[in-house]
Amino acid sequence: MMRASESDCPDMYLETRVKMSQIKLDLPSFFDKDTLLAPDLTELHDPWRYVDMHCHLDRMANAAEVAMRAQEHRIAILCTTVTPDDVASAQDVLAESGNVRIAAGLHPWWVTDDPEGTADAEQAAALAAASDCVGEIGLDFSPAHKHNARAQIAAFEQIVSACAAKPRRDRVISIHAVRAASDALDILEAHGLPDHATCIFHWFSGTSADLDRLRRLGCHISVNERMLATKRGREYARQMPLEQLHLETDAPPQLDVRPQREISPQSDASPQLSAPYPVDELEHSLSRTLEALARIRGVEQEELAARMAQTSSEVLGV
Ligand SMILES: [Zn+2]
Repeated sequence: MMRASESDCPDMYLETRVKMSQIKLDLPSFFDKDTLLAPDLTELHDPWRYVDMHCHLDRMANAAEVAMRAQEHRIAILCTTVTPDDVASAQDVLAESGNVRIAAGLHPWWVTDDPEGTADAEQAAALAAASDCVGEIGLDFSPAHKHNARAQIAAFEQIVSACAAKPRRDRVISIHAVRAASDALDILEAHGLPDHATCIFHWFSGTSADLDRLRRLGCHISVNERMLATKRGREYARQMPLEQLHLETDAPPQLDVRPQREISPQSDASPQLSAPYPVDELEHSLSRTLEALARIRGVEQEELAARMAQTSSEVLGV
């Protein structure tokens, strides 16, 4: 999806944004599990082998192909987006993928302290309020991203309060918190969100006290192999109750580059510009994570896989 350039033609840019908002806002059930991208739940299917609870599938140039291979291998995916504009692109690309849920997100790295950032936060909040699946949203106060902490807090709070104002029974929210877990928990708790949504901290890296608090609030965590490469990550994955624990890949790794908007304001940050992803890599990554987790928790791998897939598919409604 092309985006109009703000600097070239401000009126056209604004008009495009308004039109996009209207399209999305006129369809409140657009992201409802019951109406879009939901497999027919009355149709019996084999249980999922894995559920990837945090994957930037739409940032892969071959997203539909990766989704299809995942479907063949009984893998369900929560596709987390990083900007509200990406949601519509992801819907287009993954419309045929019955094993994929698309979450409406605004990643803290993409939050900007300017009128465009304010408009993104508004749009993300409106989409989240109308969605069962929300993410990636959150806060990042690491040195590279702390400069706009205030804008991040404003955007995160706006999205969280929009969700709280429109509670949905099956809502799941994937949360990024780097050096900001207690701030994120403060905001979630202030709006009572953990009481009526499954809040999943992805790749959790907070303190032990933060972990205790999120457990008590009923929040979950999702773990990937990079988290399990650290001693602290392994310890958190060992402590967390199984019913609050999920697998994720956070693929593809190239998402870790700076937002394209920052590199060139003219560039199109849509997923089509991303690189292809090896079609079997999601499964390999999930399998390696599960293998490590089974070792850490001292349990049998197959049984762990089945239990985790069941928990995640219940949360995701797939
Ligand atoms: Zn992510």
